[in-house]
Amino acid sequence: MAQKKENIVMFPFMAQGHINPFLALALRIEKTKKFTITFVNTPLNIKKLRSFLPSNSSIYLLEIPFNSSDHDLPPNSENMDSLPYHFLINIFQASLSFKPHFRKLISNLIQEKNGQKPVCIISDMFLGWCEEIAQEFGIFHAIFLGGGGFGFACYYSLWVNLPHRSTDSEEFVLPDFREASLFHVTQMTDFLRSADGSDSYSSFLRKTLSQWSKADGILFNTVEEIDKLGLTYFRRKFGRQVWPVGPVLLIPGSQGRSRRDFGISPEECKNWLDKKPSCSVIYVSFGSMNTISESQMMQLAMALEGCGKNFIWVVRPPLGFDINSEFRANEWLPEGFEEKIKVSGRGLLVQKWAPQVEILSHKSLSAFLSHCGWNSVLESLSHGVPMIGWPVAAEQFYNVKLLEDMIGVCVEVARGKRSEVFHEDIVEKIKLVMTESEKGRK
Ligand code: UDP
Repeated sequence: MAQKKENIVMFPFMAQGHINPFLALALRIEKTKKFTITFVNTPLNIKKLRSFLPSNSSIYLLEIPFNSSDHDLPPNSENMDSLPYHFLINIFQASLSFKPHFRKLISNLIQEKNGQKPVCIISDMFLGWCEEIAQEFGIFHAIFLGGGGFGFACYYSLWVNLPHRSTDSEEFVLPDFREASLFHVTQMTDFLRSADGSDSYSSFLRKTLSQWSKADGILFNTVEEIDKLGLTYFRRKFGRQVWPVGPVLLIPGSQGRSRRDFGISPEECKNWLDKKPSCSVIYVSFGSMNTISESQMMQLAMALEGCGKNFIWVVRPPLGFDINSEFRANEWLPEGFEEKIKVSGRGLLVQKWAPQVEILSHKSLSAFLSHCGWNSVLESLSHGVPMIGWPVAAEQFYNVKLLEDMIGVCVEVARGKRSEVFHEDIVEKIKLVMTESEKGRK
């Protein structure tokens, strides 16, 4: 008789940059044919996932009840990528309301399987409380961080060692991570610099981060060879199993999006890229949640026009604009920019969402100007595309440090959402990476 497969429950946070690596990991586990997988999320995220998971997939999608209006969120808001960044705290706090529902969900799963418990719960870094439920039911609990070891070691160290106000305009060493060399105060977000441990943002984060140490294991979407320093930090700090399981990446076409969301179809994008010479295009994107200021956007546009290179730019509304607002070239871009780009055929402006993995894997791609979210980093590294880093939030500042100082596959061009940046500097960095300079080649 065939042995019954054991079940793994997976629960990512409600943001595409979290759901994607969880899904990639789920698909990887599914391939082993050794386990069944229950993938938990809010109704709208599950609906979206249902629409593009292959019809023969055995991954069981399970809804956890959620009503955004109960949490001072706009109606039907269940994913950070359709919300302005300041709503992150509401989403954080709303995620705490899942606790009783998740307990019930686990209890129901056990009942349905005649008392057989899931073999493991893999939960998100922001859903640290899952550990309490796993413990209650006696289930192995792992946290999966879709990010890298170094980036999160810095992030963790900074959040657990608040406050940082005394570090104004200085370089500093991370309090319990001296091997990581010097940091500059501009590598902290405004949230981090103003946090004192009692504000709502740091209260949430410090609680959830402290729960990592109670997990039975921590999985990172990274590779030991490039990320030893960060992984060693966590092994030493928690004395727990820390496994680098990366890179786990979604295959092209399964980026958690229905075709409706794309600003351009993958086919159209490929056709455009097919017409460009090999290694001649720079791709520009700030990921699924972040954006830059209007003045930075103007400088970036001038740089893309001035550098003479082919480009694809995913244009998201600048800071201060409704994240879902229609594309407004007249307000966000230099006068005549869109028209000139169209006529020259040198650039492709993509609204909303681009088929990123298809773009990065195309032979015409030469460089990626990126906010250095970890999924983007892995996708870029996996396709051998060097990066120009423009970190804007969270652990992205430390990802860039790892990529530039320790691995040598990136140059930083600007830092933060509001920092002053000049188009000449952007052009210089683009040329450095895209032309046959010694550093660019390296
Ligand atoms: N992404 C995409 N098209 C876009 C923007 C983002 O496919 O136009 C995908 C990208 O490939 C990556 C994820 O969304 O898998 C973004 O994750 P990342 O960690 O890079 O950044 P975040 O959005 O979490 O800041």
